[in-house]
Amino acid sequence: MQALLKQQIQHSPAFVLDMDQVRANLQPLRYLQQATGCKVLYSMKALPLASLLSALKPHVDGISVSSLFEARLASELLGQQGDLHLTTPGLRADEFAEVAALCSHISFNSLSQYQRLGDFASGYSRGLRINPKLSFAADQRYDPCRMHSKLGVDIALLTEELPEGIEGLQFHTAFSQTELQPLLRTLKRLEPLLHRHAKLKWLNLGGGYLYHSIADLQVLRDAIRQIKATFAEDVYLEPGKALVGNAGYLTTTVLDRFDSDGKPVLVLDTSVNHHPKIFEYQLKPALHQEVPNGMCSAILAGSSCLAGDVFGEYRFERIPSIGEKLFFKDVGAYSLIKASRFNGYALPAIYLWRDGRPVLLRADDYQDYRRQWGI
Ligand SMILES: *Cc1c(COP(=O)(O)O)cnc(C)c1O
Repeated sequence: MQALLKQQIQHSPAFVLDMDQVRANLQPLRYLQQATGCKVLYSMKALPLASLLSALKPHVDGISVSSLFEARLASELLGQQGDLHLTTPGLRADEFAEVAALCSHISFNSLSQYQRLGDFASGYSRGLRINPKLSFAADQRYDPCRMHSKLGVDIALLTEELPEGIEGLQFHTAFSQTELQPLLRTLKRLEPLLHRHAKLKWLNLGGGYLYHSIADLQVLRDAIRQIKATFAEDVYLEPGKALVGNAGYLTTTVLDRFDSDGKPVLVLDTSVNHHPKIFEYQLKPALHQEVPNGMCSAILAGSSCLAGDVFGEYRFERIPSIGEKLFFKDVGAYSLIKASRFNGYALPAIYLWRDGRPVLLRADDYQDYRRQWGI
């Protein structure tokens, strides 16, 4: 695939989604589905690409969404098929009737939200997002269980019966985990609460686990079987990054090359504005062409006006020349959806890599920029 990428992707910069990798990422989830009868939803906020949703449709039990727009797009693509789960701190009274008509399950984020909106509409299953108050993220900005959190009902508040009408519970407290310990510990913490109540209709275990990187899924298989036997009729998993993270590439072209204070700088035709997390968290994304023990190094910089618009310093056997194509790996999740046209640069073109060939889905152009900004 790599050799082909270099030659056949015409637009630059371009976001390329490898559908074979997406299919491979589904395998561990299919195993869990088949071994336990649990249901798998794709959390579409990671990459809400319509062709991806359509391709996933036969393989998942539904979609998990966080807003009216996501719910609308998911339901247009799923039709009547599959479940649509929603949770958000930002449920709006003026949208609620439409949201409730589209969604099969809503997990209210707070008791106040449930009390205000829970009876506004019918035809969906009511749940609560709960906050187990068990932290796993080193960075507070990624920790739903931080002090004074806005995400979910503190389980310490649920000492009595669950509020009337609540049929299910949901939690989501992890990100990019490659081991199951956080999930198992969270389930342990919830056990007293689950024991106190009659069997739930459903329990949604959230996302945050990279299933394809977890060596042994049998403990999870056993845990899900036990939940289904004791605590909840249906168990849902809602991965986002696990399906698309390692399937996404950002290809770019070197536009300029010069030395700055003694180091080579390569200016690329992309920028951190196409993957803002790089800047937010000062990450260095993996580059296919990097040679870890290479003889020389260069700073890869974006083309925006921001001084800190830099991907990092990378090692090479020889410094890439102007016009050469490079590509970043493992950038399929939370990249394109957060990308902007800052400085008036187009968004990356979007390709699916399918049956050994790239298929161009869209190329951003001046008309898109113009429409966004007013004419
Ligand atoms: C973002 C999110 C997910 C998906 O998270 P990943 O880390 O991409 O797997 C699932 N559930 C909820 C409630 C989320 O907010």
